[in-house]
Amino acid sequence: LNAVIIDFIAALVIVTLIGCEGVKITIDALQVLMDHSPKEMVDEVNGIVRSIEGVTEVHDICVRRYDEALCIEMKVHVKPKMSVEEAHKISEAIEDEIRRRLGRERVIGVLIHTEPEGPHR
Ligand SMILES: [Zn+2]
Repeated sequence: LNAVIIDFIAALVIVTLIGCEGVKITIDALQVLMDHSPKEMVDEVNGIVRSIEGVTEVHDICVRRYDEALCIEMKVHVKPKMSVEEAHKISEAIEDEIRRRLGRERVIGVLIHTEPEGPHR
């Protein structure tokens, strides 16, 4: 095999590798910009929230990443006749557990919307 051809193939391989890396970096950056919630994080949050007593349902979980920091938002169902005080305690328990499990320095915000349990209108 000609040395020039070998050189050419080697260069092609390197360019391809750099190209793939570039695409990966671009996709990663776009996901952050496009507000993409990583599925495995949503699943993890879902599991944590469902383990909290008083929570009957959780949906619309949104995990926003800012580099390493996380901002989490969700809607949680509680018993309709529950007092605001009780609902607030549940929200705090959810927040505490999320921070404990995902890392206190990492989770910079947890926003919980509480809704009365039952069908949505
Ligand atoms: Zn709801």
